[in-house]
Amino acid sequence: MQSPRQSEITHEVIESVAQLTEQRDELTLLRKLQASILEMLPSVQVCMVCLVPGPQGGHWILDAACTLPEPMFPVSDSLVAEAAGLDPDVPARQVSHGGWNYLVSGLDLAEGRRKAIVLRQAEWAPADLRIAQGMLKIYVNFARMLFDSERDTLTGLYNRKKLEQKLGELLAGRIKGRNRKRDQETDDYLAVLDLDHFKRINDNYGHLIGDEVLLVFAGLVRNALRDMDWVFRYGGEEFVVLIKDVSPATIVAILDRIRTRIQNHAFPQVGQVTVSIGYTAIGDQELPPYVFEEADRALYYAKENGRNQVCDYGDLVSSGKLEPEERHSGSVELF
Ligand code: GH3
Ligand code: MG
Ligand code: MG
Repeated sequence: MQSPRQSEITHEVIESVAQLTEQRDELTLLRKLQASILEMLPSVQVCMVCLVPGPQGGHWILDAACTLPEPMFPVSDSLVAEAAGLDPDVPARQVSHGGWNYLVSGLDLAEGRRKAIVLRQAEWAPADLRIAQGMLKIYVNFARMLFDSERDTLTGLYNRKKLEQKLGELLAGRIKGRNRKRDQETDDYLAVLDLDHFKRINDNYGHLIGDEVLLVFAGLVRNALRDMDWVFRYGGEEFVVLIKDVSPATIVAILDRIRTRIQNHAFPQVGQVTVSIGYTAIGDQELPPYVFEEADRALYYAKENGRNQVCDYGDLVSSGKLEPEERHSGSVELF
């Protein structure tokens, strides 16, 4: 028979696991983990940090941009080194340092990043330690599953399913915030990128080299953007980027930077590869397929008019080169 306190703990643990596994987003999963640990172990302090390889390679540094939520204590260099040295298959390691007992757990992310979760307490009761280790194990296993379900296996970029989710959230947020005063100078944009004459690359060099081009292309696009911008592999040799809160001049500069970096890159064996890009401001389209359709029509225009260029749906419509999109309700099939 469990004592009332034991059955209360069992209930808390089951509830926390249920809540953790409800999450469908890396960040909310982390937040939920933090909340669960604090609820079950109120005297524990939690800190979650993101590590990236340092500029010289070989060592890891903290990436402040994705260190969320608010850390409850600063992470020292020696803890960073500890987290960096973790075998991701060993869920949590105990470390004593400066009068604190730490529990450090690591998880490898795409693009060479690593997430580290650090818990600390002056003294750990054995039962608390087991609960914390168990929660971290569940988190790491579930985070890996979540991670795999939203990524493309070849490039490690987000997949089309994640695009649907992100774009849906973004549009829903815009509809909700419509009555709030928006910054008139900036907007959110969706761009579709499609490699030019990619079929020829496959035909001339084979599918494996084609895949290698896609991989290098994905890395170049990712590196040309900020951490906060979203990059998706939509399918085949088509990619989508979501860029929030930039001016019309900035979006042109960003997308043209991608285009020129691709054009100037010497791809192994293949040499020069070019990309065409169509984009649109995310406005009042309300449904994700409409946003995508506008950017795709601008992309089609770029393809028809010489390729290796960036075209804006809004510009094409206002200059009379494209007819504005007519919306027929009930005919939404793009996603
Ligand atoms: P355009 O400039 O008009 O875009 O010409 P294209 O040849 O790039 O266009 P098309 O859509 O006709 O061809 C895309 C090709 O991409 C066809 C398909 O075989 C190839 N492809 C799609 N997915 C993959 C993939 O994962 N790996 C490789 N190697 N090739 C792929
Ligand atoms: Mg294509
Ligand atoms: Mg193509």
